[in-house]
Amino acid sequence: MTLPTLDEIRTVAVIGAGTMGHGIAHVAAQMGARVHLYDSMRGAARAGVAKITRNLDKGVELGKLQAAERDAALARITEFDELTPACKGVDCVIEAVPEHLELKREIFGSVDAIVSPHALLATNTSSLPVGEIATSLRHPGRLIGMHFFNPVHLMKLVEIVRHGRSNPAAVALAVALAEKLGKTPIVVADSPGFASSRLGLVLGLEAMRMVEQGVASAADIDTAMKLGYGHPMGPLELTDLVGLDVRLGIAEYLESALGAAFAPPELLRKKVEAGKLGKKTGEGFYRWSADGKKL
Ligand code: NAD
Repeated sequence: MTLPTLDEIRTVAVIGAGTMGHGIAHVAAQMGARVHLYDSMRGAARAGVAKITRNLDKGVELGKLQAAERDAALARITEFDELTPACKGVDCVIEAVPEHLELKREIFGSVDAIVSPHALLATNTSSLPVGEIATSLRHPGRLIGMHFFNPVHLMKLVEIVRHGRSNPAAVALAVALAEKLGKTPIVVADSPGFASSRLGLVLGLEAMRMVEQGVASAADIDTAMKLGYGHPMGPLELTDLVGLDVRLGIAEYLESALGAAFAPPELLRKKVEAGKLGKKTGEGFYRWSADGKKL
């Protein structure tokens, strides 16, 4: 298996155009790659490009990039609603579909049959075992975890997850790619929840239990962590940003892998059942306007 060099990563396919996928497509296009943005839900890739356009417009407004750079980045992105054309001829595939092991295994099984055997493959899973996702591949060593953070175009961290059968050259390439995307990579072992989700979730779940027990309001708990500990955002606002469904999925998995400390609070389950998934649905622990402002 020969991987491309960093400079040979010219076309990147992003699978899933939701919260994370559109952000990954954004930074890949800004890096100078051609981007194939694919989502199986009709219209989702288009909606992803609309979000990228809004975020790039904001960058121009704030003087962080030139209008010409925005236009060039957008011109490099193509939308797809079928997997095969989206993955044909690409040098790298980054997957950002919902957090379900079987779904991710299935997708990589299909991707493996379409892409060149030299392409670098990455999953944006926030907690699932990357080594198990890799079992659907002919060359499991080329799959690496690249865990981006939300919102991708602003957050600097990427956790690079190395599993038991990772090819060291693929890990090194993923580190270099993250740096070229303007991020700071850290390399972690393929342990449940990696470094960031495991620690971040403890805080988020405890904050929810405190709301349940009437210790303080969501806003006051968030203020405590912001002003008392210097966190840029409180754990409940962060949960709204991440998506309550996403956090519930991670908590269920970490409970099964690491024990009761990660058991999802009843309040989280109820909100997810009621469709209160956070910013993306307009309500979670807070209410959000259609243009994404906290009300
Ligand atoms: P999301 O629900 O916002 O987006 C997922 C997208 O995948 C949707 O647009 C959906 O239509 C699409 N999709 C579903 N099945 C598909 C398929 N078979 N083929 C192609 N597209 C498909 O989810 P998200 O929040 O972007 O999370 C995606 C991944 O990123 C998950 O693994 C999650 O754990 C991880 N992650 C999320 C966050 C976060 O803050 N939301 C942060 C880091 C990592």
